Amino acid sequence: PLVLGIESSCDETGVGIVRGREVLANVIASSVDEQARYGGVVPEIAARAHLEAMRPTLERALETAGVRIADLDAVAVTAGPGLAGALMVGVGAAKALAVTARKPLYGVNHLVGHVTADQLHATGAEPVPVELPTVALLVSGGHTSLLLVRDLVEDVELLGETLDDAAGEAFDKTARLLGLPYPGGPSIDRAAQDGDPTAIRFPRGLTAPKDRERHRFDFSFSGLKTAVARHVERTEADGGALAVADVAASFREAVVDVLVTKALDACAATGVPRLLLGGGVVANRRLRDVATTRAEAAGVRLRIPPFDLCTDNGAMIAGLGARLVEAGATPSGAGFGVDSTLPVGQVLLS
Ligand code: ATP
Ligand code: MG
Ligand code: FE
Repeated sequence: PLVLGIESSCDETGVGIVRGREVLANVIASSVDEQARYGGVVPEIAARAHLEAMRPTLERALETAGVRIADLDAVAVTAGPGLAGALMVGVGAAKALAVTARKPLYGVNHLVGHVTADQLHATGAEPVPVELPTVALLVSGGHTSLLLVRDLVEDVELLGETLDDAAGEAFDKTARLLGLPYPGGPSIDRAAQDGDPTAIRFPRGLTAPKDRERHRFDFSFSGLKTAVARHVERTEADGGALAVADVAASFREAVVDVLVTKALDACAATGVPRLLLGGGVVANRRLRDVATTRAEAAGVRLRIPPFDLCTDNGAMIAGLGARLVEAGATPSGAGFGVDSTLPVGQVLLS
């Protein structure tokens, strides 16, 4: 099926068009430069930026794919989780499109969209074999979730998630503590290049034996952030110079260590020897390297989609819509709304 997908859950306005699993267009407009002035995503600014970017992004996607709205079999849109005001812009646009063009509309789960990204391929490229079940680690500025995916449409289970900050958020907040620019991920990555990752032993949240029962697959990064803040304060109080590169490298190591350890632990516990990574934090070189090495040692097949499919994008939403059409799922009703805390087990809004 030919499906157009709209994504607007955070600061990316994304419109993608797929035919089955083939990506015909994946156009993204990001308000990250505007957000950078405030050192983080401001919901109101994100919503406004979506409103401005939506129509040109839609038009460019249709043009790139060389299809007309009339050709579409369905429209899909992220209904949650995400920022409510931002989601509303995408859902509003999708409803208008679906009603005027008389197309079925699917309001779908953003996180399951991230998982779908792994099954997509570019025009002219070899189709990607679908490998399920898989454990999926989704890490971005808004979420840190560990999932067990047996079937995209029928069976997505949440194994654990962050209890406080998301991994990307931890990078952003720590960068600010170190006087590095937003977004924090890339700037910490750069600063860490010449640093010693063993210089400071920062805490690994929820890995103590007492946490293994209740929070085995959950994450916590606020203690790590506080530990960095303490370190900065102490250094200043002692009148010493802050070794930014060492702090950045040690911080990054702590985050990466916890993410990879828990993800591979989930593979072992579920008996599923596959791990899929998704989300903007996957841009982190160290995360990719550590995951690659340790997955190989554990006999786990690691999959990392191309980066433009890892960050928020419309193609993954269109791809999920196509799976739903193929599965014969009933489209969402006319009155569905946005759900900023949509649970991962709910793939489609009714
Ligand atoms: P959502 O959470 O809804 O998916 P988002 O906009 O927060 O939305 P992304 O755009 O996928 O998520 O990712 C942005 C996040 O990824 C930011 O927190 C950023 O700091 C982080 N990030 C980007 N590059 C890197 C990197 N090299 N290392 C670590 N984190 C990174
Ligand atoms: Mg973003
Ligand atoms: Fe996302």
